[in-house]
Order: sequence, then C-alpha cells, then structure tokens
Amino acid sequence: MGTTILKTILIYFFTLVFSLSFSIILILLPTCIHHGAIYIPGAYDTLYLSRYSPYDTIIVEVDCMEGMSPDPRSLATLQQQIEQYSNKKVVIYTNEEIEISEVPDTIIGDELFQTIDEIQEAHRDYHTGWLFGNITVYIMYLDFEWYSETDFLTTQQEIDDSLTYSIGLTCAADSIIIFKEATMTNNMETSVLLHEMGHIWGLDHSDETSNVMNSLFIFPGNSTIIEYPNPYDFPMNFSNEDEEHLLMSHESYRIIPIIFSNSQIHQ
Ligand SMILES: [Zn+2]
Repeated sequence: MGTTILKTILIYFFTLVFSLSFSIILILLPTCIHHGAIYIPGAYDTLYLSRYSPYDTIIVEVDCMEGMSPDPRSLATLQQQIEQYSNKKVVIYTNEEIEISEVPDTIIGDELFQTIDEIQEAHRDYHTGWLFGNITVYIMYLDFEWYSETDFLTTQQEIDDSLTYSIGLTCAADSIIIFKEATMTNNMETSVLLHEMGHIWGLDHSDETSNVMNSLFIFPGNSTIIEYPNPYDFPMNFSNEDEEHLLMSHESYRIIPIIFSNSQIHQ
C-alpha cells in the first residue's frame, strides 16, 4: 500500500517537473532565438518574406524627428514593394514625435545602439510577436553625425575621416535609420528606403549601378552625395539575381531567424 502511494506521488512529481521544464523551454527557446537575432540585419528575412511565415501582416512604423517627415510617395513605393515580395498585408503608421533633444548631434561607433534603444523605448508602439501576431519594421527619420570607427583612431584627421556620410542604415533585424537631411530628392529617399529594406531581407551590396543594392550609396570620407549618382536618377529596382533571392525566400520553409552574422550595421 505504502509503495503504491509513493509510486503515484513520484509519477505526479516527475510529470509535473517534465511539464514545467517543457513549458519553460517552449517559452525560453523563442525568447533566446529572438533575443540573439533581433540585432542582426537580415536575420528575419524569411519571417518577412516566406509564404509559410506565421505572420500575415507587416506593420511598418515610421517615427521621425521634428520636421523630418517621410515623403508619402516614397512610403507608398516601399509599401508596394514589400507587398509584392512578401504577399502580405502591409500597414504603415507615421508619427512625428522624436524631439531634437533626444538625439545627440554626434554618435560614435557602438553608441548608436544605445541611442536606438532609447528612441525605441520612448516611441516604438509596434513590436514583432515571437510566435504569431504581426511582424514589424521600425524606421526612424533622424539627423546626427555618426563616426563609425574610433577604437583605433588617434589623430583628429583620422577621426574626421571616419565620419560616415550615409543616407540610410540598417541597424537591426527590423530597424532602419534614414537621414532625411541627406535625401535630396523624393527619388533618392525611395531608393534608400528600398536599399535598407533589401538589407532587412538579407541582401548584400552590388556593384551594378542599376541595382538598388548598389553600395555606392555610401559616401565615406569627404566625398559628396552629388558626385554619384545623379540625385534624380537613383536606382529603384532589385537586380534579377536579388529578385530571385527574394522569390526563393518567399518559398522558403525556414521561418526561424538566422542567429549568426558578421555585421551589426549595414549602410
Ligand atoms: Zn547598404
């Protein structure tokens, strides 16, 4: 009699321990994967694009500093392109609520991530659900000078040279910064939005001047934006190769983030 009760207690005990552990793993595993992946541009590629992804709707939240609202035509093109490649519903929300005082004039190296965290903490309304719900893209229209690398720089000249003249940055799996002041035309703003979206979808740079993933968008050192290309004639399309990549992602069964990468920021 005594041993039967003991056995029953033991069975209940182990069932309880097993269920608890299983539940904890079920909750912790996606948390860990997303916690690692969220900082990696491209990590959510198939989550945005795959037809098997658990997300039906992509929410694009755009938060801007005062006076830096996006051009509605650029956002409309972005929306159309996201819909085309993901075949999902795309909803865009825009707010102009980031105060100038919230963004430092100068940001050095990895300080960028702290600034972005603070802005998101204060302003971001929509987040990606870990298993279901909506998947989100967060776009910030900001203005600051970013010095990309200063760890090994000593002279003032070297520091000045590391000032990055960038029009856009992809700084996480779901986050983009647009430097509105540097976008001289509507055409240029659209092109940069599509370029950064390409990074979110895992695309790399291309040398083809007609490809929106052209890396000549980056203007290091003292070169100016006007030199290349003509600000009224920026590329608007993905190359055939990149388009194939996006279509393959649409058919992909991989609907978990990739958690390894060599780069935290794409320009
Ligand atoms: Zn780029």
